[in-house]
Amino acid sequence: MTGAVTEGARPDQARRHNRTAVLRRLHLDGPCTRAVLVTELGLNRSTIKAVVDELAAAGLVAERVPSMRSGAGRPSLLVLPQPHAAVVLAVDVQVEQVAMALVGLGGELLGRCSWKLRGRSREPVEMITRIVDSTEMLTEELGRGVVAAGVSVPGMVRQEDGLVREAPNLRWFDVPLGQRLTAALHVPVRVGNDAELGALAEHSRGIAKGISDMVFLAADVGVGGGVISADSPLRGSRGYLGELGHMVVRPDGRECYCGARGCWETEVGEAALCRALGLPEDTARGVVVAELRSLDTHSLPGPLDEFAEWLATGLVTVVNMMAPELVVLGDLFTALPATVVEHVRGIVHARSLVSRAVGGTRIEISPLGRDAKLVGAAELAFEPVLGAV
Ligand SMILES: [Zn+2]
Repeated sequence: MTGAVTEGARPDQARRHNRTAVLRRLHLDGPCTRAVLVTELGLNRSTIKAVVDELAAAGLVAERVPSMRSGAGRPSLLVLPQPHAAVVLAVDVQVEQVAMALVGLGGELLGRCSWKLRGRSREPVEMITRIVDSTEMLTEELGRGVVAAGVSVPGMVRQEDGLVREAPNLRWFDVPLGQRLTAALHVPVRVGNDAELGALAEHSRGIAKGISDMVFLAADVGVGGGVISADSPLRGSRGYLGELGHMVVRPDGRECYCGARGCWETEVGEAALCRALGLPEDTARGVVVAELRSLDTHSLPGPLDEFAEWLATGLVTVVNMMAPELVVLGDLFTALPATVVEHVRGIVHARSLVSRAVGGTRIEISPLGRDAKLVGAAELAFEPVLGAV
């Protein structure tokens, strides 16, 4: 959390810094009183008053008497972010569907839509046209436009300009998605890797809130990982970090499209889950999830024993390398039976030095589920907005 501005900063810099800190606090943690802002941000009462007055004059926040009163005396006013004052577009491009949402200041969902891609074109030009058309529909319904957009893509994304370098499961290579959407939507557009945005979502609004070091691992068709280290996303060279799914866990395993053999993704991705469940590899997502949920959660061993072994094998390395306090399992992994997750936890703890050193690395299912990447895309869009409005 951003604290008091450093001494010696110019007054306008200090004002901007404080304004961003207050707005960010209200956006991520919800309404609170001026007194709470004073305590949490380490600023004095007159500074908070000036910032809140300024934000209220701009229509970004409103002040209201709280409905529940405790104790005697004058009630402290609640400062509330105003959702319609700054609305962003969030887009989650998955292999089988595209989901879109309008998200207001404070994180309120103000509209959403989605469409299936199964059996349909995944050509970038057609997808971009559909995203732009759907944005028009959503903003017309809401009666206002968006100030920025964030897009999640299952592939390697160049951070500075949103070029999708490679998204093999979409068959996208060198697609200038950020530039094209910026030109079509006429607002700043930021694009991120899906697992990176899943991590951002869990860290800002989900189960990893308040946790400085965490890993988000998700299986869609592929497997990706996002890492938060010391409260910041690890992005690697040009933002390409995240290909944890291509860590080789089984050198004599199946060939992977990436050129290696026995990648983690080939052992724990959607196709591997289908094989473990005795389903064809192209089984529809809904059927795979239903089959997972129907497993007898009380019986071990079961059909997912080998799958659990490979999931744990990769996780041991991830935990040893990154030393996360928490690993969040997202997307298709959220449908895993609790006994399988418990089994994986046990193996990781038994084989990871780091897990033993910290008394057991937490491994949990994502509470945001399939919305995690949409939430992360919205937060990616909000980051520069909070400092600019
Ligand atoms: Zn691979």
